Amino acid sequence: MTTAYDDTNIFARILRGEIPNDTVRETPHTLAFNDITPQAPVHVLVIPKGAYLDFADFSARASEAEIVDFHRTAAAICAAAGIVPGAGGEGFRVIANAGPHGGQEVPHYHIHIVAGRPLGRMLPEA
Ligand code: AMP
Repeated sequence: MTTAYDDTNIFARILRGEIPNDTVRETPHTLAFNDITPQAPVHVLVIPKGAYLDFADFSARASEAEIVDFHRTAAAICAAAGIVPGAGGEGFRVIANAGPHGGQEVPHYHIHIVAGRPLGRMLPEA
């Protein structure tokens, strides 16, 4: 079963300009803004401007231009934040939650870029 995209979600409302955001970077296909509840000194959300539910939906339906722009924008944010290992940074983590087991709260595809402190184990003990 595929869940339909719900355009009342909070990121859709941000994209329509109905609620404010703390923009980090914007391109024709992609918007990045600071998370309202940061989990680390760097916590940026990167979202496509198109209506995609999650990683699988974006990967299946987005154009190549949208996918390339999304990833290059995320990488540019990492570079600008000085967190890229090998370029003087201490590293970062990219997270894409999906569905109930993935803990996805907002049903518009996004990745979290988190950095600025040691992030510990990838997952808590089961
Ligand atoms: P996820 O659990 O992967 O769906 O993550 C959703 C993220 O969106 C959480 O980290 C929230 O803190 C963040 N968030 C929710 N509302 C806003 C908002 N208005 N502006 C920025 N970040 C938000």
